[in-house]
Amino acid sequence: MPGHTADQLCQWIYQKGVIDPDGMTNISSRNRQRLPELLQLGEARIHRNQDSNDGTRKLLLEWPPRRSGAGSLELLHDVQQTECVMIPSGQRRTACVSSQVGCPVGCRFCASGLEGLDGNLTTARIVEQVWRLQQLPGLDRITNIVFMGMGEPLANYAAVTSAIRTINADWAFNISARRITVSTVGLPTAIRKLVDFEIPVTLALSLHAPNDQLRREIIPWAEYATIEELLDACDEYFRKTGREVTLEYILLGGVNDQPEHARELANLAGRLRSNINLIRYNEVESLPYRRPESADVHQFQSILLKGGVNTHIRASRGRDIAAACGQLRQEASTED
Ligand code: SF4
Repeated sequence: MPGHTADQLCQWIYQKGVIDPDGMTNISSRNRQRLPELLQLGEARIHRNQDSNDGTRKLLLEWPPRRSGAGSLELLHDVQQTECVMIPSGQRRTACVSSQVGCPVGCRFCASGLEGLDGNLTTARIVEQVWRLQQLPGLDRITNIVFMGMGEPLANYAAVTSAIRTINADWAFNISARRITVSTVGLPTAIRKLVDFEIPVTLALSLHAPNDQLRREIIPWAEYATIEELLDACDEYFRKTGREVTLEYILLGGVNDQPEHARELANLAGRLRSNINLIRYNEVESLPYRRPESADVHQFQSILLKGGVNTHIRASRGRDIAAACGQLRQEASTED
């Protein structure tokens, strides 16, 4: 297929949102007929589409079984379901996408890891989440992408970085590197690999505790790397890319939200060029954690600010449809 046809195809798919070859009227009918043999466009079925009363939109996408390998080694994978979320805020339209089905990390407070990992998403399935959110009626173009949905993005490194190339490309979504955030629970080797990735995305480290002991209680994978090792890797990321690292800290009522935790956190944050996002815990049924008291949240922030740490309290969005941070999950398809 000639190069200009590929350009036309990208315009139809990414700018005009058209994936039906019959609608691509400036492509020759011969090439349109060949398209279904060459490409699979728009594989997902929208299993559920929910709107929050704060404007947040959530999609539960379902993909058909996929074949991989060849000959006697060919595997048939299960149906995959993932959630993705669109969060409008002022001029921003942020798409929160998943990188895996379920999550292998199993943070004690999070719904996504409750049933462990059910597989990686391919590059196409990550990109399709962005495309599906872009097609929701009544919304302007997506301006920001956060890899904060289901999964640990750096544990699916190849597919995530490949998807970022498409998200960033001017022939596709054309979203700049600084508006793409990869949020990780912290894999020092993968963070160092990301330093050499040609697109200097924003890195967010999900710290969630100010010391290793408490961190290991709430994040099982914390036993593989100390906070010290993680901050060293983040510091290298900042020095080599010039991108300030964001430290994410989910406030769990009575667990990690007390003044002594804030003072410890201020000391850690002073070690590298970073800012802190405080996130109030969003309740998940069956988990024992509670949302922090407002007074504790503001006291926590003021200790950090007094310690010279740039700190924001992130608004919880989409709580009424379980679209907020830590609430995404795959759901059984039997209920509809
Ligand atoms: S918080 Fe993130 S890393 Fe932890 S279980 Fe949930 S999705 Fe996985």
